[in-house]
Amino acid sequence: MGKLNGKVAVVTASTSGIGLAIAERLAEDGAKVMISSRKQENVDKAVEMLKDKGLDVSGVVCHVAKKEQRHRMIKQTMKEFGGIDLLVSNAAVNPIFGPILNATEEGWDKIFEVNVKSTFFLIKEVVPYMEKRGGGSIVIVSSVSGYIPVGSTHTGAYSTSKTALIGLTKVLAEQFAAMNIRVNCIAPGLIKTKFSELLVKADGKKILDSIYLKRFGEPFECAGITSFLLSSDASFITGETVAVSGGVVARL
Ligand code: NAP
Repeated sequence: MGKLNGKVAVVTASTSGIGLAIAERLAEDGAKVMISSRKQENVDKAVEMLKDKGLDVSGVVCHVAKKEQRHRMIKQTMKEFGGIDLLVSNAAVNPIFGPILNATEEGWDKIFEVNVKSTFFLIKEVVPYMEKRGGGSIVIVSSVSGYIPVGSTHTGAYSTSKTALIGLTKVLAEQFAAMNIRVNCIAPGLIKTKFSELLVKADGKKILDSIYLKRFGEPFECAGITSFLLSSDASFITGETVAVSGGVVARL
């Protein structure tokens, strides 16, 4: 019996990297999982791969910054799975790479729109469905760069958006407690994905030196902790951020 049996989960940006690993783990732990990302071909591929492993998943295209696509993802989940108990807000972008003074308004707006604003408005739309089920659990994917400047020489605006998510987690946890909805956060360190390739190229050696375990992480290493935080094993944990960083010191 999996610890998420009978639960329905929505995971954003779940067709590769950390999101895909989380979606796979939640399904292995018994949840029905709605997979999503911007491109239909990526959704189809991920759903097929997970279904081939015997997992109960479905998929829908959702660019998280598009309100109508967020709405459609929720409606589709309700139609196919009959409710929503768990949400992982994992999508993020970083169109600005370089010193923060090079940031343009367009780049800054995009980062905050996708990483912070869309996270809040997706959660806002999902919460009434969780309430109907008597409660729920949410995990937001931040980053250790939201705490400390490792790599943020190149990703200052992105890192600032990730700090905002740590704050948002605390605000939501306090306000949703009365609805029996817990909100937690994970802060991955450097995890080997497409997203981190540029950073590894620019600053890999320096980042590696800052990691106690002297290696980069794998996407699956973000998955077990997320499943735990979503599950009833974490029933007295809310408003927390857990660093998954191989020992990079991360505290505000
Ligand atoms: P990744 O392997 O490059 O995967 C990115 C995923 O996001 C893909 O499935 C992509 O699919 C989807 N996506 C991109 N933009 C989207 C949007 N606007 N709406 C919906 N889906 C979107 O990236 P990752 O490293 O796993 O990153 C996942 C999360 O972990 C991000 O929040 C990132 O900030 C965080 N993080 C990563 C690291 C790291 O070292 N990798 C460290 C700390 C935090 P489509 O192209 O089909 O949309």
